[in-house]
Amino acid sequence: MRQAEDTSTDLARHVGSMVIADTHEHTRSEAEWIKEGPCDVLADIFSNYVTDDLVCAGMPNQAMVELVRGKPQDLEKRWASVKDYWPLVRHTGYGQGVALAAEEVYGMEELSLPGLQAAEKIYRQLRSPGGQLEFLRSRARLDHLQINDMTRKPPTPNPDAPDFYLYDLSIWHLVKHEMDYRQLCEWTGVTVSDLASLEQAMGRLFETSGGLAIACKSQHAYTRSLAWQKRSDAQAATALDEILRQGASADPAQRAVLGDWCLERCCELAGRYNLPVKFHTGYTAGTSFMPLPGTAPSNLCGLLKAFPKTRFVLMHMSFPYHSELLALAKQYPNVYASLCWAWSISPYDAMEFLRRFIHSVPANKLLAFGGDSVWPTPTYVYSRQTRQWITRALQAEVDEGYLGEAQAIELANRILLKNHYACFDIPGRRANIAKALA
Ligand SMILES: [Zn+2]
Repeated sequence: MRQAEDTSTDLARHVGSMVIADTHEHTRSEAEWIKEGPCDVLADIFSNYVTDDLVCAGMPNQAMVELVRGKPQDLEKRWASVKDYWPLVRHTGYGQGVALAAEEVYGMEELSLPGLQAAEKIYRQLRSPGGQLEFLRSRARLDHLQINDMTRKPPTPNPDAPDFYLYDLSIWHLVKHEMDYRQLCEWTGVTVSDLASLEQAMGRLFETSGGLAIACKSQHAYTRSLAWQKRSDAQAATALDEILRQGASADPAQRAVLGDWCLERCCELAGRYNLPVKFHTGYTAGTSFMPLPGTAPSNLCGLLKAFPKTRFVLMHMSFPYHSELLALAKQYPNVYASLCWAWSISPYDAMEFLRRFIHSVPANKLLAFGGDSVWPTPTYVYSRQTRQWITRALQAEVDEGYLGEAQAIELANRILLKNHYACFDIPGRRANIAKALA
């Protein structure tokens, strides 16, 4: 399983140790990590996307659930249930994450029952107060995390480290339009009764949290097509009327109409508050589910053109539509490509994408890392994986004579840190948060 770190060149040493930005996580608070984190080392090293590969390889769903959410006293049984499937997934990008966790975090060259038991004390240390921040900041060498905490709540500063844990403003519920208007009223003080009050509530949402958020984020590609069309106020008002009357049984087509209208308002507001808009594009998590054609980023062309002053971050390399993403990032000044989650989905595709990107798209348009994880261990291992594969891609460019080593290092600085400071205005966001806390 050897994952030996490459320290053979200046480039490898630089990429292996530089401080990098993380554009996408679902990180919970440290209190939650301590209280609700995976039950033991076995659960921790498999609590990431590899569970999808295990199920895809044939592991029964129930056994997978027990592997990551079972009890420590069943360790032997849980290890036995995954042992035959582990060799089938160990070479995938997700599997590499498991191998890196075992080796780099827990000191196991090969997974084994005695190794898992011996590593428990390391895990307890990680889950002690201050452990999460120390691990992510000092060991993973992350500059900051951009977090979509999945609560939909408007972001507030995280007292553990307000300049490190930065939060997205979720617009998902507005765009797929499964809106809890009572909750929206709690957040904004506005009762939604017609289109004007919905617009007022959205305005209030951005007014109160637009300055504190790092970006807007929507993953509506999971439940509806990314295809967007302009809707008139009259169309939206009719749709809202039906949704307010019918509740959960309202026609999904009307939700799409109102979702399109809300998306347009969100893009306007995001532009006004200088917030980039992040969209999930391409591959979806899980198994036997993926609604592929609707997740292709080319569905967004109309929106990208309609809001030239709003910056759009298209996430996950749009895999398997990454050629479309190259074309969009090349064509639209307001489009940025994000490789969050891409290195673990398919590291070879991500490596090739990076090389193609270098030779086709301006260098300020790429954001190269995001672990897309809930707990700190996968965030760390995916950052290690990203550093390895970026080194490999850039080294190939140097070896083939397209880049000098100094140029490769400069590019790494850009795509792993500098571009984020510009695209998300990190200093401005941190200043807003500090002001709110003062
Ligand atoms: Zn995510």
